Amino acid sequence: MYLLIMGAPGAGKGTQAKLISEKYNIPHISSGDIFRQEIKEQSKEGKLAQEYISQGKLVPDDLTISIISKRLQKEDCNHGFLLDGFPRTIKQAQDLDILLAKLKIKLTLVLNLVVNPERIVNRLSQRRVCLKCGATYNLKTNPPKKAGICDKCGEAIVLREDDKEETVKTRLDVYQTQTKPLVKYYNEQKILINIDGDLGIKDTFKEIVKILGDVNGNN
Ligand code: AMP
Repeated sequence: MYLLIMGAPGAGKGTQAKLISEKYNIPHISSGDIFRQEIKEQSKEGKLAQEYISQGKLVPDDLTISIISKRLQKEDCNHGFLLDGFPRTIKQAQDLDILLAKLKIKLTLVLNLVVNPERIVNRLSQRRVCLKCGATYNLKTNPPKKAGICDKCGEAIVLREDDKEETVKTRLDVYQTQTKPLVKYYNEQKILINIDGDLGIKDTFKEIVKILGDVNGNN
């Protein structure tokens, strides 16, 4: 299965993507995670991306497409993948179509997580992430077992720099103007399916499994 998951910031893309990736054994390719790793390593790409990310803006298309293109050509993507956070602009989607045609791959499905906009800011302010292993938590709905510590690797969990209130507003504006048009783009390709992202982690995942089970011919 070649999947893409999209939705506004804070819709729960990353959380659902991790669950899908584990259940269906396909690599979870998150452009945000790749950028955060590059920033940690202070690579040339990371330093460039950091400027945009810290302001809640999109990293320029060329740089983003180049890192994703490299990633999709790795061997583990031969039998499927789940893209999370990419594409985020029409230009990225068009370039992805060109790349996939070259690789002789067709997207199976685009999962669009739909959430109540009023809840988003609140969700993001409660989100905590582990910068070591990428695990994410919500202090209210999905807290770690021990306060402030990642269940998976024992590192301290933190509020992402770009989850601070002032940056979240820019990210939501960017989503509305640059990313939301992708809903129409994939609707026209007849591969988009809306998922209710307000059901809670477990029930939203159940919905997704139902849909992917149909695509896969089993659950
Ligand atoms: P995420 O973890 O998906 O919320 O991404 C965090 C930040 O990384 C975004 O707010 C952008 O600044 C940047 N980013 C991630 N994916 C993309 C993309 N496809 N295009 C441009 N910027 C991106």
